[in-house]
Amino acid sequence: MGRIIVQEETTKDPVSLIGREAGVCWGADITSAKKNYKRGLGCLTSGHGRTWEYPQVYVVLDGYSARVIRELYTHIAGGPTRLQASTRYINYEKGFDYVIPPHIENNAEAKEAYITAMADITAALQKLEGCGIPREDCAMLLPLGMTSKVVLRTNLRNLIDMSHQRLCTRAYWEFRQLMQDLMHALADYSEEWKYLTENYFMPKCEVTGFCTEEKSCGRMPKKER
Ligand SMILES: Cc1cc2nc3c(=O)[nH]c(=O)nc-3n(C[C@H](O)[C@H](O)[C@H](O)COP(=O)(O)OP(=O)(O)OC[C@H]3O[C@@H](n4cnc5c(N)ncnc54)[C@H](O)[C@@H]3O)c2cc1C
Repeated sequence: MGRIIVQEETTKDPVSLIGREAGVCWGADITSAKKNYKRGLGCLTSGHGRTWEYPQVYVVLDGYSARVIRELYTHIAGGPTRLQASTRYINYEKGFDYVIPPHIENNAEAKEAYITAMADITAALQKLEGCGIPREDCAMLLPLGMTSKVVLRTNLRNLIDMSHQRLCTRAYWEFRQLMQDLMHALADYSEEWKYLTENYFMPKCEVTGFCTEEKSCGRMPKKER
């Protein structure tokens, strides 16, 4: 199971921050917290996307598979910054943690095959290390299912957009889980983030009112219908 830590560098009052920054440009009174919050809400409901880029998010993603992190890296809007646990410097000779997908977890025969394969990879890593092969080369054997750790800096707009793709029932199950974990972690961080995750983080079918995917889960009608 992965876990998400919201770093204290993350904007605590994202809605109010949006309102303050927008207020500067409108020559408004930005000394009133109430007015700033209201103005922030206005920018959100009006879809003034650039203002959504002011709230910054710093999170540690720990225990998710290298595979889901690879998918995370495709979300490039807003110029996110990311650092990932090194496969050159960390010693995986003694083994590595990995994700067991639910379909494998719930099938005894499949689970045994999966765990055996991971143990075989560990044995091969030890063998290569014993042959004096540099760690960066041994690491080529590491599987996509191994867990990793990432420090991600992004913004509200990027995360809202990400939620549209990754809360889709057709998205990869682990990314859907990661997205839910992120929403819970942000909601726990502050009341304003709770409001945003509850009202702006949603699958794309809830934004459009219909399903845009070719193979629909049936949650929403297809556009042609
Ligand atoms: C069901 C499903 C299946 C998928 N299958 C695959 C798959 O098989 N392989 C795969 O690689 N991915 C797959 N994806 C991921 C998906 O195709 C995108 O790669 C991912 O969502 C990130 O890209 P993005 O455009 O959504 O987000 P971002 O890159 O973060 O972009 C967000 C928004 O910013 C704007 N933007 C970003 N970059 C530019 C730019 N250069 N110019 C102008 N505007 C820009 C666009 O409006 C864009 O919508 C799948 C997703 C789903 C939901």
